[in-house]
Amino acid sequence: MKEYKTRSRTLILDYLKENADRRFTVGDIYKQINESDSGINRATVYRNLDRLCQQGKLLRYKDTDSDACYYQYSDEHDNCDSHLHAKCSECGKIFHIESEFAREFEGHMQSEYGIDVDCSKTIIVGKCDECK
Ligand SMILES: [Zn+2]
Ligand SMILES: [Zn+2]
Repeated sequence: MKEYKTRSRTLILDYLKENADRRFTVGDIYKQINESDSGINRATVYRNLDRLCQQGKLLRYKDTDSDACYYQYSDEHDNCDSHLHAKCSECGKIFHIESEFAREFEGHMQSEYGIDVDCSKTIIVGKCDECK
């Protein structure tokens, strides 16, 4: 059983890594994994996604114009729940914003507007250098 769980996690991670410039809903991932591992159920997919997010291998964020949750490969990064991210609207590349400026921005949002920025749900969208 343990081995089996690890196998599905590897499948999920490999798939998202191969498509690192795209974002996926749980439904997308489930459909894809189910094709190569038909015994898998949705709850297992959810559990594995949770674990991969905790390990910083995946990023989870909400879309601004729908309520859907998206998952995207994130290059083994720590503490993705506690810093901001930016995403290129062209190539889909994810940037981890950990500079002092981001902390200042969060502090400013709090003091000026009373907003606690929820990093796990905030994503700044723009064009990266390569896509300009
Ligand atoms: Zn991050
Ligand atoms: Zn780009």
